[in-house]
Amino acid sequence: MKQILLSPPHMSAIARSLLLDAFDSNWVAPEGPHVEAFERENAALARRERAVALTSGTAGLHLSLVLLGMEPGDEVYTSTLTFAATANAIRYVGATPVFVDSDPASWNMDPDLLAEALADADRRGKLPKAVLVVDLYGQCAEYDRILPVCERYGIPVIEDAAEALGARYQARPAGSFGDLSVFSFNGNKIITAGGGGMLVTDRHDWADRARFLARQARDPAPHYEHSTLGFNYAMSNLLAATGRGQLQVLPQRVRARRANNAFYRDALKCAPGLEFMPALPDSESTFWLSVMMVDPEAFGATRNDVREKLAGHDIESRPAWKPMHLQPVYRDCRFIGGGVAEAIFEAGLCLPSGSDLTTPQLEVVCDLILRTGRGL
Ligand SMILES: *Cc1c(COP(=O)(O)O)cnc(C)c1O
Repeated sequence: MKQILLSPPHMSAIARSLLLDAFDSNWVAPEGPHVEAFERENAALARRERAVALTSGTAGLHLSLVLLGMEPGDEVYTSTLTFAATANAIRYVGATPVFVDSDPASWNMDPDLLAEALADADRRGKLPKAVLVVDLYGQCAEYDRILPVCERYGIPVIEDAAEALGARYQARPAGSFGDLSVFSFNGNKIITAGGGGMLVTDRHDWADRARFLARQARDPAPHYEHSTLGFNYAMSNLLAATGRGQLQVLPQRVRARRANNAFYRDALKCAPGLEFMPALPDSESTFWLSVMMVDPEAFGATRNDVREKLAGHDIESRPAWKPMHLQPVYRDCRFIGGGVAEAIFEAGLCLPSGSDLTTPQLEVVCDLILRTGRGL
């Protein structure tokens, strides 16, 4: 059988034809009709006023922090259980990340811990300048509790929705919750443009500023005049065309990933000691990745046993994110919480989750997992 990857790109015929259209039109630079259309379509999807197409999700996070005027010494509270890009963006602007543990109910930032931490920071007169919330593995964070707390202290929220394009929470789309929200079109995400990101917001002044900064901050003049530090972060029209084609199949891709998750839950429910990432009520995760926790006592094998068993059959799986507060590069940073994210990292395994997985492939993966547990 051929190799099964964790989350490979799944392209569409429409993406191919739009890409060729962009190529043939000679609009191959970070400017052109597909860039503008892709921005409009993302804004509509996230129900936002504006969208700015960028080279990556990381660039979107970086620009968000620049727009909020971060300076060295400022603190940004963020989820510890995430991909490094979230925390790295905070460091890019010289600010200091403070990591908040996960809520066992969602694996996302714990709203109670955040509330306590902000109350404490308020007493100390050192509130963070922003809160950067991650929508983990396709599931939105608990915004009905996070947003009011941040609002109480007037702290802007950045939503890292890189993993959650297409998700919903209380009838609102992912990307609609932050003052600034960010999507990613990296190769392993639910849809890919071959790379890219999108910043969405309701503030026209921020969107205009992001556009300006992403194009090297060129002041209006016949020559090249710069009074601000700029970045080369604008998305190519080729990638925007590809992304537009992919956006058209997003509902199918979400359905496929959700079906994978349902398959895993059903096929593995007979095994003791396997538990899937909890799904919040009134929330529709895309299950960008299907993640389960392996309790070695009950299951009879460890997470690593399962991973190695699958790897032996050319099937890719991966431990859950290693929390940022445990990463050597963030060793010196403050962490608020206990052992929730750490336990998820220790026992969590991301299973093959691609939208092109076939039923026979899913059956093989589940069969191998069950056989690991029985020591076969
Ligand atoms: C992928 C990812 C990013 C970065 O997106 P890129 O487009 O790869 O730069 C940021 N945050 C999270 C949570 C991600 O999973």
